[in-house]
Amino acid sequence: MAQPAIIELKGVERHYQQGERKLIILSGADFSLKRGEMVALVAPSGTGKSTLLHTAGLLERPDGGEVFVAGRACGKLGDDARTAIRRNEIGFVYQFHHLLPEFSALENIVVPQMVKGLSRAEAASRGAQLLDYMQIGHRGNHRPAELSGGEQQRVAIARAVANAPQVLLADEPTGNLDPKTAHYVFDALEALVRQSGLSALIATHNFELAARMDRRVTLADGKVVPL
Ligand code: ADP
Ligand code: MG
Repeated sequence: MAQPAIIELKGVERHYQQGERKLIILSGADFSLKRGEMVALVAPSGTGKSTLLHTAGLLERPDGGEVFVAGRACGKLGDDARTAIRRNEIGFVYQFHHLLPEFSALENIVVPQMVKGLSRAEAASRGAQLLDYMQIGHRGNHRPAELSGGEQQRVAIARAVANAPQVLLADEPTGNLDPKTAHYVFDALEALVRQSGLSALIATHNFELAARMDRRVTLADGKVVPL
């Protein structure tokens, strides 16, 4: 039997009420991310990329339709079950790094692992490995404010995969970086995803980076369509 997609959206609806007006962002959106696949989500600002990623990553509940993670329907699950799936299976990278400002780079990667139950020593060992892999091992003791934008995003990527998720969802992860830095950060992200067999859905405005992924999708009339 074919393996289920790691993430699947079926007929997803997402609407916002803005005063009198109903904004229809996702309307019958279908999308399937296969295991090991890297997909770019390329669409103009305001079309619903973040909404799609948050819905796929169980950060928001859809108004209709269903989201499956590793074949499991998540709509009727309670918040605790959804949080557990998110913690174990899904890594999220934002445009702004969202690192904890009072903690060092390494501690930012250690904390989520300890929340999951690893000892500090185990978590620190994996954290150091990940920082090395992202080529910022020498910056582990620095706080986010002491790091460059590119370094902050590399730490954020390392943190997102700290608990060995099956899928990485990245919302314009290089959107705040200059083109050259964006390229380096993206190289590191791509190498990490390919090497670990992760699946990834990455929202980006960068066509050159999008061209390197397995396929590209966009949003049109609230649906996910090939680009
Ligand atoms: P993108 O990431 O592609 O820029 P978003 O998913 O952030 O798009 O937003 C899509 C649309 O939904 C935008 O018009 C945005 O203003 C609107 N929107 C997003 N979140 C909310 C919210 N919580 N309440 C009302 N409108 C929202
Ligand atoms: Mg967005």
